[in-house]
Amino acid sequence: MIDLLFLPDLRAIESPQENETDMMFKVEAIEPPERCPECGFDKLYRHGSRKQLIMDLPIRLKRVGLQLNRRRYKCRKCDSTFWERLISLDEKRSMTRRLIESIKEQSMYKTFVEVAENVGVDEKTVRNVFKDHVAFKEREYQFETPKWLGIDEIHIIRKPRLVLTNIERKTIFDIKHNRNKETVIQRLTEIDDRHYIEYVTMDMWKPYKDAVNTVLPHAKVVVDKFHVVRMANQALDSVRKAMKDKMTAKERRTLMRERFILLKRKHDLNERELFLLETWLSNLPDLKEAYELKEEFFWIWATPEPDEGRIRYSQWRQRCIASNSKEAFKDLVRAVDNWHEEIFNYFDKRLTNAYTESINSIIRQVERMGRGYSFEALRAKILFNEKLHKKRKPRFNSSAFSKAMFYDTFNRHEVTDHDITDNYGVDFSTLINKLEKGDL
Ligand SMILES: [Zn+2]
Repeated sequence: MIDLLFLPDLRAIESPQENETDMMFKVEAIEPPERCPECGFDKLYRHGSRKQLIMDLPIRLKRVGLQLNRRRYKCRKCDSTFWERLISLDEKRSMTRRLIESIKEQSMYKTFVEVAENVGVDEKTVRNVFKDHVAFKEREYQFETPKWLGIDEIHIIRKPRLVLTNIERKTIFDIKHNRNKETVIQRLTEIDDRHYIEYVTMDMWKPYKDAVNTVLPHAKVVVDKFHVVRMANQALDSVRKAMKDKMTAKERRTLMRERFILLKRKHDLNERELFLLETWLSNLPDLKEAYELKEEFFWIWATPEPDEGRIRYSQWRQRCIASNSKEAFKDLVRAVDNWHEEIFNYFDKRLTNAYTESINSIIRQVERMGRGYSFEALRAKILFNEKLHKKRKPRFNSSAFSKAMFYDTFNRHEVTDHDITDNYGVDFSTLINKLEKGDL
């Protein structure tokens, strides 16, 4: 009989039974155990057996069950009894180890339901195998704690998810299933050396700030500048929309089409765009006023001096609340009033969450690639792909070698690659590169 199983310690004892979708093999251990696991004595005798169902890798797309006659032995010397040990089995899950490996791999690109159906175990088991796998990977890849941490959210599979970034190294530090305050607190608490975090950038979302103040009281909060200046553009756009009774339908449509000219920075416009801008603004004085407020608001940030920035803002604020556009800019003024300190902390190091935009497009591409991903699979696929990690080896240290190699060979401990390498997390540019090549 040809052995279709190729397992190192099990063999089929008769031809398999087979139907449309499944195969069942009767199997037993190839060799009896040599010694007692308790005392090492080599005289053992059989002491009962039981039937056990073990799932294995499919063969020719048919799911495979192994009906194992598992034997128990008793030691003649110490009288201890034990079940035979089989290295190809995962005892916890009643599956072969190779099936577990296959489930881990398949869960990265198939839904749990699909995997469960393919291999003949239930969905919950697939989910648990995947969970164990992720927990293992979490321990294996401990990313270096960022000095400057970015907190943001990104829509992944229809929900906003928490994304933590390393601003200095331009890497993704972690992704979590939601962005609740409790989740942020929990995740930040898990960082042992969190005292190392100096700055935390975020948008104006109170739960983030509360979480950071709770867990990282020493860290300075910086509101991401782009979230602030974006509000100036939104205010300007609402003024444009409110102009409709002052314009013909045709003018409205044209301005709608050309609104990007208003939203771009003036110094980025070409000659034609500048001409169009002047035409619009000279005909619509209210729009002109709002436009100037927008440009001046952006200008606040264009100084290296923190004090100058604050002065520019207070002057701008006065002009704004005296203008006809004050209603449109009301949300912006309130936001800056509420987050004043955090917004102007920007001037310390000029930190922003600028990379979040690129993560956004990355995630969209990843999502498109594999419909039916679970969030956990998507997260694991991004975070635990070693090819995407940004690493740096520490400086060459010759004294470590002389000690370890020549003087201390007896006590030398194993130095693994993970020990000697700083791993900063998932590198944005590598991730983008791989996605563009379809190589993820
Ligand atoms: Zn024994």
